[in-house]
Amino acid sequence: MPPIYGFYWSPSPTHLDEEWNAFVQSGANSVVIQMHALTDALLKRCQQHSVMVYVDLPLFAGADLRVSFPDSAPVDEHGSAMGIDNWYVPLCPNHARIRAHRLANLRGVLERHGDALHGIWLDFVRYPLRWEVPQPNLMQTCFCDQCLALFFAHPLREYAIDERMAAIHAILHKRLDAWVEWKCQRIAGFVQDIRDFLRTHRPDLRLGLFALPWLLTDYDAAIRTIAGQDVTLLGRRVDAISPMVYHRLCGQSPEWIADVVEEMRMRSCADILPIVQTIDAPGALSAAELGCALEIARTVSDQGVLLFDLSAVARDPGKLAVVREMFER
Ligand SMILES: [Zn+2]
Repeated sequence: MPPIYGFYWSPSPTHLDEEWNAFVQSGANSVVIQMHALTDALLKRCQQHSVMVYVDLPLFAGADLRVSFPDSAPVDEHGSAMGIDNWYVPLCPNHARIRAHRLANLRGVLERHGDALHGIWLDFVRYPLRWEVPQPNLMQTCFCDQCLALFFAHPLREYAIDERMAAIHAILHKRLDAWVEWKCQRIAGFVQDIRDFLRTHRPDLRLGLFALPWLLTDYDAAIRTIAGQDVTLLGRRVDAISPMVYHRLCGQSPEWIADVVEEMRMRSCADILPIVQTIDAPGALSAAELGCALEIARTVSDQGVLLFDLSAVARDPGKLAVVREMFER
């Protein structure tokens, strides 16, 4: 497998040509495109340029599914349904119809565009939280009726408020280790379902996933305890894990990228393919700082580098020059 040098791309209808031109000029060989943005015309362009196309398949987030399945709102440790946070609409990761819907999404993408695809990259493979900030709000979830029924191995039923609070208290104070282990197994179990589906229908496709960029020592192992992402378990089920090493969003220096990649490689048997931030958030990310982050990621990664995202590079000739210089080496 040659190294991947590519972008995450959410094509903008108004800047499509500008973004595509930047992509071609960068010398990238791969692109990760949002599931809903795939079109025959876009895939034809990629094919003509021998670009490898990976589809971003979101799992446990999405405004459309929250509307279709209102009871998919995750329930937090205070017994409250989680609201919508700006663009982020979390979904319960154990909701049976959400899981079925995501498998149907995968089936639909393969039926419609399968011939033009090289792989699937899973996104939002976790319990809900907004992690792309220096100080994330860490809260245990999900205590909805469906999750409680599954954890306690009881038939599905509706919990009264005080009954739910008693169950949450019992889990957090008496069975926390079992709860965390179960959460990680539930997330890995659905990734296994997707792996099994691909093994049957498209064993040639590469399966990857986007992971939180947290070390086990960060926030008291919250990557497992809160997010339910156990990269050892996940790594046995996918070909590649892409830690989202967005250093500026996380309030870190570019050097931190190497720490995350190295720890993930130690903990997982999957390939580790980091995805680096290009966007200006918070504040402007200079071309020089992007170049530094890219250099560190390239040095530590034997799989190549992905960039998040293309539009930020297409808008900035300085960033494009830095990326092209790195991709062409
Ligand atoms: Zn739930």
